[in-house]
Amino acid sequence: MVVSSGMVRSASCILSMAAFLLLTAPLLQLCTGHQGPSDLPGKIAVVGAGVGGSAVTYFLHQQFGPQVQIDVYEADRIGGRLATLTVNNQLYESGSPSIHSLNLHMQDFVKLLGLRHRRDVPGKSAIFNGDQLVLEETDWYLLNLFRLWWHYGISFLRLQMWVEEVMEKFMRIYKYQAHEYAFSSIEELLRSLGGEHFVNMTQKSVAESLLGVGVTQRFIDDVISAVIKANYGQSVAIPALVGAMSLAGAQGNMWAVEGGNKLVCSGLLKMTKANVLHAKVKAISLHSSEKKPLYEVLYDQEGALGSEFYDLVIVAAPLHKTGYAISFRNFQPPLQLPIDSYHRVVSSIVHGYLNSSYFGFTDPKLFPFSSILSTDSPDSFYHSLENLCPINVTVGFRRKPPQEAAVWRVLSPRPLERRELKTLFKSYYSVQVIEWQAFPSYGSTGSSRTLPPIILHDGLYYSSGVEWAATSVEMSAVAAKNVALLAFNRWFELTEKIDQQDLLHKLKTEL
Ligand SMILES: Cc1cc2nc3c(=O)[nH]c(=O)nc-3n(C[C@H](O)[C@H](O)[C@H](O)COP(=O)(O)OP(=O)(O)OC[C@H]3O[C@@H](n4cnc5c(N)ncnc54)[C@H](O)[C@@H]3O)c2cc1C
Repeated sequence: MVVSSGMVRSASCILSMAAFLLLTAPLLQLCTGHQGPSDLPGKIAVVGAGVGGSAVTYFLHQQFGPQVQIDVYEADRIGGRLATLTVNNQLYESGSPSIHSLNLHMQDFVKLLGLRHRRDVPGKSAIFNGDQLVLEETDWYLLNLFRLWWHYGISFLRLQMWVEEVMEKFMRIYKYQAHEYAFSSIEELLRSLGGEHFVNMTQKSVAESLLGVGVTQRFIDDVISAVIKANYGQSVAIPALVGAMSLAGAQGNMWAVEGGNKLVCSGLLKMTKANVLHAKVKAISLHSSEKKPLYEVLYDQEGALGSEFYDLVIVAAPLHKTGYAISFRNFQPPLQLPIDSYHRVVSSIVHGYLNSSYFGFTDPKLFPFSSILSTDSPDSFYHSLENLCPINVTVGFRRKPPQEAAVWRVLSPRPLERRELKTLFKSYYSVQVIEWQAFPSYGSTGSSRTLPPIILHDGLYYSSGVEWAATSVEMSAVAAKNVALLAFNRWFELTEKIDQQDLLHKLKTEL
């Protein structure tokens, strides 16, 4: 055979290319974090398209790359508890209205999706005990401080320090997640943030914790209980960690997405090109295979039953007694998930004239508040009352003067009776009622409380259990990133990235 110089050149070129690929392959593995497309999961299913499900889809897409198909099952509407409704031709938030400024995943999503913060429309709050206002906010910051000090001594400072300490520790999660560390249980995640103290905060009540740092009983009864009730419809017996998150929100610095908070969910799903199926997941069953297990997702799509197989399944929907039931089949031993109950909060969106005299203002023009919280008295029929701004706030927008008809959101434990509506409103054009299974029913705290697991099986994960530690839009996003990292690290056996002790110190010395 005649060997031409051209052939030699081609052969040596191929050889050097092969050598280059051999040499660079481990480098590529290191860079991408996995061993190549053949080792990737075939398909992933996400159950739920609220902020938790949308965020987990985005983070899974980031970790595993675009080659992996992600199917998202949603039984109702994209956004879940982020929802809007129309009043008088304008849209208003009917679910979660606000996000804290330190909620960094939500801040990132908004930037990534080219969305904007809604223009802030300031308003003042007051607390009403059924007879009189026990606390009123004014336009003057110093006067507000003076009033707090006059009534409650330095309790408000102690509260602020307590909340800031919790938030500072909570913020560590962003650093851990940026370095791709994941936690296999909610307890491990909390321990990494604030040690055993953080885990204990899921067992101890917010009242007990605050008394422990010197906040007075009177401040708890008048102020803390009203805030907790307005946020969760529950009492100061809820766990301290949930309470701290809620009280952080009460200190201001809240924002919302221009055009509606749910735009984050639809935006993330679109960006990741997820395959969204409008279907109710009925069951997840295990099918063993030689290597890794396979999961069959059985669903109901407008009455027609269907099923698909997946390597990984993430349940990003709270499993509770009044939710869509999902049965887990063929697992040995059977999967025993604590199916607890969720707390009902009824949201009545009322377009009408406020009855300001009920709150002690016979002249409606003098009523200065945009929100009223109710103290936790047994005869109080509502949790809070808030004047709503539409989801699109134009530059010239102003709140309606109190003597004009406006849109109000009343949160209550049950649908309001006509006479209760008549107590709060002189008259109204419309009332729209949404019953939310809003938050876990925290009940009374005690050392026996166990938090739900994150890993249900090798490739089956549950992200919504985090709500039993603390519930908010951002907690769902934090849990979503943790589950995506956990699934990825476990898939590629990156055990050094899971449940690492003393991460804070480790990251300081690594940097
Ligand atoms: C009235 C109200 C006010 C709130 N205010 C605030 C606030 O101001 N700030 C804040 O941070 N948080 C607030 N929250 C809490 C916040 O809305 C939730 O923590 C957050 O939206 C939860 O998101 P998620 O995706 O985890 O769950 P969800 O939003 O509940 O999403 C779960 C999704 O899964 C779907 N699903 C369930 N089961 C199945 C199934 N079997 N098959 C297919 N799909 C299924 C559901 O339809 C739903 O869309 C509020 C909540 C309510 C109700």
